[in-house]
Amino acid sequence: MEKQSNLSRLLAYAGKHKILTYLSWVLSAGSALIALVPFWYIWRILEEVLEVAPDFGQAEQITYYGWMAVLFAVLSMLIYIGGLMCSHLAAFRIATNIRIRLIHHIATLPLGSIEQFGSGKLRRIIAETSGSAETYLAHQLPDKAKAFATTAGLLILLLVFDWRLGMLSLVPVILGFVIMSKMTGESMQQKITEYQNALADMAGEAVEYVRGIPVVKTFGQTVFSFKRFKKTIEAYEKWAIAYTKELRTPMMFYTLAINSVFVFLIIAGLLFTRNGVENEFLLNLIFYIIITPVISLTLSKIMRQSENEMIVTDALQRIDVVLDMPPLASDAHLKHPKDASVELENVTFGYDDSKNALENLSLKIKTGETVAFVGPSGGGKTTLASLIVRFFDPQEGKVLVGGVDVRNLSKEELMDHVSFVFQNSQLIKASILDNVRLGKPNATEAEVMQALSAAQCMDIIEKFPAGIHTVIGTKGVYLSGGEQQRIAIARAILKNAPIIILDEATAFADPDNESRVQAAFTELAKGRTVIMIAHRLSTVINADRIYVLKEGHLVEQGTCRELIQAEGLFTNMWKDYQRSTQWKVAKEV
Ligand code: ADP
Ligand code: MG
Repeated sequence: MEKQSNLSRLLAYAGKHKILTYLSWVLSAGSALIALVPFWYIWRILEEVLEVAPDFGQAEQITYYGWMAVLFAVLSMLIYIGGLMCSHLAAFRIATNIRIRLIHHIATLPLGSIEQFGSGKLRRIIAETSGSAETYLAHQLPDKAKAFATTAGLLILLLVFDWRLGMLSLVPVILGFVIMSKMTGESMQQKITEYQNALADMAGEAVEYVRGIPVVKTFGQTVFSFKRFKKTIEAYEKWAIAYTKELRTPMMFYTLAINSVFVFLIIAGLLFTRNGVENEFLLNLIFYIIITPVISLTLSKIMRQSENEMIVTDALQRIDVVLDMPPLASDAHLKHPKDASVELENVTFGYDDSKNALENLSLKIKTGETVAFVGPSGGGKTTLASLIVRFFDPQEGKVLVGGVDVRNLSKEELMDHVSFVFQNSQLIKASILDNVRLGKPNATEAEVMQALSAAQCMDIIEKFPAGIHTVIGTKGVYLSGGEQQRIAIARAILKNAPIIILDEATAFADPDNESRVQAAFTELAKGRTVIMIAHRLSTVINADRIYVLKEGHLVEQGTCRELIQAEGLFTNMWKDYQRSTQWKVAKEV
């Protein structure tokens, strides 16, 4: 397939506004040509001055020419502004359409892939890439049209007045072009990519570094954590220096070439005037000296264009990375869950190709059962829970909720059917009321209060003067992990889904909080199917069944009593657990 140009890819987003983009080029180019007219008036002024010299009082037209030059300069500016207005209208529309397209696509992605990709990175792509597309269309392309028109206009001007001087002024221009194309060749593009990558790595690592400051402070790991950041700075330094060095020589010659027009002109002037000075020639020489700096200016502008082009290419590639992420498959044959059971049939799932997090796993949880998943860390417990709520789809096998493959359930129905309270309970920066109401947007305040009280949250509400209107995350409002989880449980109670998945918090600061979370959870579990990921065995004793997961396999299952007697992995875990509780009691006594 032929690679589409950046421009045609961007214009594909323009819709009806495409014409404005083209119009902006025409206007910019026109303004550039009109901007050359004042130079012609300057030439006329020079002509008159030289004609009447030394009796300058005779010059009559000078003021008129001066004003005409001003008039055309202003006219050119106005047309340029008109062009920019067109280009901005189109550019804003295109940037908006890119954002809409990205956001629509992101909405179809599995939540798990978004989390893996990183929401910060996604946000940056949405904001920055469409931003650079906008700058490119709004400013850079009209300027490109302008630069090319200026170049063409200048060429004509230079050759019309005195073709010999014109050709001479072109020598440095051609030299400049040759050097410039050397600078922006293949190897340079590669260096720029390396340089840009190093810059992005350094920026990313800086963010990580700042984020990690609490950990760094807690564990005193200053030197260790600084190492990676330092490495990226050094890599950046390396590429920045390589890039600069690469450019040093050609840049020097380029600058020399485009600024050396005077030298050529002066030498020519000396040569051509050996046999006496002609007015006409002097006039043109002065005029050329005035006009040639415009050439170097235009050249520099054209040179910067290729850099902009590379930035846009990069932006479009980043957009593609997002658009190429596979959406969550949706089946047109929507069905409704029959009950509150959960079933896995030969499920295999891996986050990447290297290793499966779950392998050929099958199990059935009946309506109303309370089951617990236990096992060593990394065994696949969290992964299993995320498959049930479709954060990911398994590579092989099926997940059924209420007897229906989750791929045949609409997103809304699945969410209505399953509630989950995960370790990081993910409260948003809103009032407690609104946070709970996320479970059921049309709930009355009384219903919310009921849910909060069932989830043992009254002590939290009473702690703050604003009560349920307290905004979480504002100054002075601090909620402990256990408190956050209780509010998340209140949300799940309000939502009233028949299946509950709970990834139990690993640690509580105080036993009081722990017992309240337990009580809240017991309330939530009433009459529902409960899937619990347990980190402490104290919570699994009453489960109808316990599954032991290890390295993606189901190694044991049964009731607590059965498993203790089985002399397997669970038996060892149970012994460890009992030792730890005895130790705790001994400490407290
Ligand atoms: P558990 O919850 O039992 O501790 P997990 O389900 O979190 O186990 O992890 C199971 C396996 O999958 C582990 O090997 C873990 O390293 C891997 N894993 C978990 N989450 C991710 C992820 N987002 N990307 C890649 N690998 C992951
Ligand atoms: Mg886990």
